[in-house]
Amino acid sequence: MTESEIKAYIAALQPVLKLADWEIRVEMGKCDADCWAQNFTSARYKKATIRVSAEILAGNCEENVKAILIHELMHLYTAYGHKQVDSLLDPRHSERDRLLEQIIDDLIESLIDPMSEVIESLVEVESDT
Ligand SMILES: [Zn+2]
Repeated sequence: MTESEIKAYIAALQPVLKLADWEIRVEMGKCDADCWAQNFTSARYKKATIRVSAEILAGNCEENVKAILIHELMHLYTAYGHKQVDSLLDPRHSERDRLLEQIIDDLIESLIDPMSEVIESLVEVESDT
């Protein structure tokens, strides 16, 4: 997939994933270590930036790239609740809150990861490039 194909794929996925009302920007760039892509969301305003690592294209087959993009889009569903939970955590980050935050992160990832692969295998989108 090229950069423009990635952008077209995400745009085509939005209505399929019921995210048509989100303003989603896609940028190619440097992601955190061990990340192929990252999302930066403002759930309140339904705005998100999906940053895609330039190395994603060399390191993954097309199905994997699509599943990774779906994974990032699915985080838009969890963004609001995630932020609410974060706001309740102790800013001094007690051991208990650090553990709670990790459990929530792991729970979200463990749900989104397999679901993204399932959706990728089921969804066929037409994207204009
Ligand atoms: Zn994730």
